[in-house]
Amino acid sequence: MNATTADIVLAVHGGAGTPSRDELGAGRAQAARLALAEALQAGFDVLHNGGPAVEAVTAAIVVLEDSPLFNAGRGAALNAEGRAELDAAVMEGSTRRAGAVAGVHRVRNPIRLARAVMERSDHVLLIGEGAEAFARSIGAELVEPGWFVTAERQRDLERARARGATAPPHFGTVGAVARDRQGQLAAGTSTGGTTNKRYGRVGDSPIIGAGTWADERCAVSATGWGEFFIRAAVAHDVAARLTYRGDPLPVAARAALDTVGRLGGTGGLIALDAGGIVAMPFGTAAMYRGTVSSDGVIEVAIHDEPLHVVSPEADR
Ligand code: ASP
Repeated sequence: MNATTADIVLAVHGGAGTPSRDELGAGRAQAARLALAEALQAGFDVLHNGGPAVEAVTAAIVVLEDSPLFNAGRGAALNAEGRAELDAAVMEGSTRRAGAVAGVHRVRNPIRLARAVMERSDHVLLIGEGAEAFARSIGAELVEPGWFVTAERQRDLERARARGATAPPHFGTVGAVARDRQGQLAAGTSTGGTTNKRYGRVGDSPIIGAGTWADERCAVSATGWGEFFIRAAVAHDVAARLTYRGDPLPVAARAALDTVGRLGGTGGLIALDAGGIVAMPFGTAAMYRGTVSSDGVIEVAIHDEPLHVVSPEADR
C-alpha cells in the first residue's frame, strides 16, 4: 500500500507460521478474514473519528484477543502446564512512551493492561503477579484462567508434547500499527507466546525493540519464534535501518527479518512509516494480515496472495 501523508493508516496481523491453505481449510480461512476485518474496522473507527493511533491499535487488538482464532487473549497458546500465560506491549511513536505486561493469567485483554502501564504507571514492563496486582488496582477486567483455554489449543499442546520441544513452535500472535490524523504512529502486540513453553518464558512481543517498537519514523509489530526476534532486536532494527541507513521501509523490514532467518528462526512482521507506507514481510507459509486507510476499504490476506477487499457484512 502506498498512502499519502494525509492518510490515516492501520495494519494488523494475526500471526505468522503454518498452516498451508489445505491445512487451514476454506471455513477457518474465512472466519479468520472476518475477524481481521472486524479488528481493522474497530481501529479504523477510532482513526476516522480523529482518535489517537495508540487507541486504534488497542481497539484492533482487543477484537483479536477476544477471538478464539488467534494466539492472544482467549484462544492463546498454552504453556507446558496447560495454562495461558499472556504477554503484550504498546508503544507510541513521537513520545516513545511504552507499556508492557508479561506472564499474566487472568487479565482478559492484556493489551489494555499494557496501555495502562504506559499511561497510568511510572514503569514500562510489569510481570506476573505484580502485573495482576496492578490490573486489580486499576479495575481491569479479570477472568478465570480457564476462560482463555480452548479445545483447539489443548490439541495443539498435545501435538507439541508429542513432537518434542525441539520442533519449531506454532505461531499466531496478534499485532497492529497505526498512523493517526496528527501523523502520530503507534504499535502494539499481544500473544500467548509459544505452545508448550516453559512456565515463566517471555517472548519478544512485550520486549520493546524486539517484538514491538514505535518512534517518529516507523511502527513495528512482529510475530514468530520470539527467542530469535529478541536476539535480533527486530522491531528496533527496522527503525534503525530507516534512521541510520535511510533504507525505504520495505527494504528495512525485509532486512531485519532476514537476520532472524540467518540465526535459524522464522516469522514475519508488519511495519508502517510516517509517510503511510506499509510493509508486511514474512518467511513462513502464512501470515494473517490486513490494512485499511482513509477510504475505509478493508483488505486482508493469509497466504502469499495479494491483499484483497473484504466486507464484513457481505462476507458473513
Ligand atoms: N512471537 C511470539 C512469541 O515468541 C509467538 C508468535 O508470534 O506467535 O512469544
